[in-house]
Amino acid sequence: MPLHCPRCKKNIDKAKVDEIDAQLMSAYHNDALRRGLCPVCMTPLIDTEMKVKE
Ligand SMILES: [Zn+2]
Repeated sequence: MPLHCPRCKKNIDKAKVDEIDAQLMSAYHNDALRRGLCPVCMTPLIDTEMKVKE
């Protein structure tokens, strides 16, 4: 179950969040991902696990 950015319409695989976060931090000092925000547009990411199955 990925994290989803409603603005970029992009999914971020939860298994890769730590890896991507580490890369963002070392390259850009961007801590958006660990704060639950999209690293591109800073929109709060939606945890698709929280959604009730339709
Ligand atoms: Zn975004």
